[in-house]
Amino acid sequence: MDFVLPELPYPQKALEPVISAKTVHHHYDKHHAGYLKKLDDALKGDERNKSLEHIIVDSHDKNPGVFNPAAQVWNHTFYWESMTPETSSLEDKALRDLIDTSFGSLDDFKTKFKDAALGQFGSGWAWLVFDQDKSALSVMKTLNAENPIPLGYVPLLTIDVWEHAYYLDYQQDRGKYVDGFLDKLINWQFAADNLNNTDWASRLKQMAG
Ligand code: FE
Repeated sequence: MDFVLPELPYPQKALEPVISAKTVHHHYDKHHAGYLKKLDDALKGDERNKSLEHIIVDSHDKNPGVFNPAAQVWNHTFYWESMTPETSSLEDKALRDLIDTSFGSLDDFKTKFKDAALGQFGSGWAWLVFDQDKSALSVMKTLNAENPIPLGYVPLLTIDVWEHAYYLDYQQDRGKYVDGFLDKLINWQFAADNLNNTDWASRLKQMAG
């Protein structure tokens, strides 16, 4: 499989004023594209025939030269999809109920998610995931390129908290960027689709098992 940079699901200026076109340009055209180039350079022979998720699971904790660019390509694609410039509300009943039973309320989820995003020291990601063993949602943070799939979780949403995601717009004020993401940009339909796509969830479980 030849990996290509997936098109952004919206124009580069669409996330303004929370995330500027300049930030999206650098983030997508330089960083995301750069990880894809690194992945392409790192893959050999048969590895090219696997899906990106399979490469991530197989190289996890074994081959950082492949895992890091593979996970960063996947994480960034997932990050762009986690946001939408359209107004998006939490309408999916299954997801709404799970947020209530797992966190207490939508506001409690937001507080937890912000804590994780701010608590990730240095570069990394914060995630809303489905924990299949507990049949509950959970918030987690991961360092550098780390990804929830090989850890056995189904990712529903993510925010990139590497400095390159917000520094041009907010300098060191990561909290302002996270607030904008939580209040204006979350793509709830994407999260619901990920939760309700049982095929995808069971496929991930198999690979992680
Ligand atoms: Fe990034």
